Amino acid sequence: MPIVTTKDMLLAAQANGYAVPAFNVENMEMVQAAMMAAAAQRSPLIIQTTPSTLKYASPTIFFKMAEIAALEFGVSAAIHLDHGDSFQLCSKAYRAGYSSIMIDGSQLPLEENILLTKKVIELTTPANIPVEAELGVLGGKEDSHVVADKDALYTDPAQAALFAEKTGVHSLALAVGTAHGHYKGTPVIDYERIAAVRKIVAIPLVLHGTSGVPEEAVRKAVECGISKVNYATELRDAYTNAVREILTDAKVYDPKAYGKLARQRVQEAIEHKMKLCGSNGKA
Ligand SMILES: [Zn+2]
Repeated sequence: MPIVTTKDMLLAAQANGYAVPAFNVENMEMVQAAMMAAAAQRSPLIIQTTPSTLKYASPTIFFKMAEIAALEFGVSAAIHLDHGDSFQLCSKAYRAGYSSIMIDGSQLPLEENILLTKKVIELTTPANIPVEAELGVLGGKEDSHVVADKDALYTDPAQAALFAEKTGVHSLALAVGTAHGHYKGTPVIDYERIAAVRKIVAIPLVLHGTSGVPEEAVRKAVECGISKVNYATELRDAYTNAVREILTDAKVYDPKAYGKLARQRVQEAIEHKMKLCGSNGKA
């Protein structure tokens, strides 16, 4: 199937009380793993790449891999720019064919975040490409950007409503207690805050930093109104641990040997997340 946008996918999830998990991919094997998982689970699929991943390989390479793999595996997939950190990168991904764009202006003062988000929406509107924005500041490490836990700022529901109204953005990432990277302790999610935002904001809501969040907590966050759930760290772990395991055998020299196991482990992890978020059978 051709690449689709995240718009209808997330609206359907929102209307029916499940979430679409979004998976960060770093190479061809992870793209294939995600597509195979979506085909096996008959799940809608969002794959996404961060700015550092797009320095490793271009948006065009990732878009073309996604486009071909979606056709090969017969999957309804969107390819999304995760944490777009500049108008320029958003524009580059848009021109490469990305079907969903995040502009993360969460570090900026509110008014500047609104202006930047609007500018990106103006860019993508001619092709009907939806835009995700972020309000509030998550802790942890995303790419090279590190936020100390004490500097994390939870999303204010009234501000979220104002932001959604002023920008016309299509989905909104919230800061509600999750963080990027590996958790040191168990994260505590502010479910009431999610529910409060859900009550007054009509667009789909996004949870970032979900790797390492207990399954029960993810389920509850989805029940409270989250429609997109981002996973990056757990997939990087699954991939790298598989490679590490195989390379203890010094006789292995063929990249396909560890690529194959790593791909299989990532696929298993992804299928598990699809079932957890309830997107299985919804394609
Ligand atoms: Zn994130």
